[in-house]
Amino acid sequence: MPDASHSRFVPPDMTRDCLDPWVYVEFKADGGILPCCVRGPIGNMGDRSLANIVNGVEIRALRLALLSGRPDEICQARGLRSVITPAVLQSKVGMLIDSIKPPEQFDGESYLDANPDVRAAGEGATRHFLKWGRLEGRPLAARTGPEVRKGPGTAVQTELSVSDWPGTTVGFPKETNTLPGVPPDPERLAAE
Ligand code: SF4
Repeated sequence: MPDASHSRFVPPDMTRDCLDPWVYVEFKADGGILPCCVRGPIGNMGDRSLANIVNGVEIRALRLALLSGRPDEICQARGLRSVITPAVLQSKVGMLIDSIKPPEQFDGESYLDANPDVRAAGEGATRHFLKWGRLEGRPLAARTGPEVRKGPGTAVQTELSVSDWPGTTVGFPKETNTLPGVPPDPERLAAE
């Protein structure tokens, strides 16, 4: 007997239990970027950077639709993901975002020194690094010589980039439908 939670019908004001638009990208040989294994491309790396695509209007619209309980026809028609309330999905996405941390050696001032355009834009170092810098391969510290001194006697590597980041993998929250707390704002979650 089919599992009703994986129905091809999503009742009004419900959504799919899907984190793919936050954690998944599929690369096509022609440069296309897919947000899940079902949907078509949301951008092409021949036209835009990966950072731009995964922060772009197309994927934010998809995230917001899921978070708001208004999944589009494609999300509705596929029964790959079960049906849950938007509040539960919002909690899961909030926990997911909270679980993403910069590497231990990350220092906000060093990052801003190395990326003066970020400082000039006034965006927080940690927020910028998590949203853009790690995808753009931005340096964590300015190149000032063979090594950068951060505090007395503390040598840190220069030009640290994403590939130096141990634990880049995101920790997924435990699956549960009884998450506590007030769901975060869907529009913020869609943009993060
Ligand atoms: S089509 Fe399915 S897998 Fe893709 S984003 Fe929608 S719910 Fe998730």
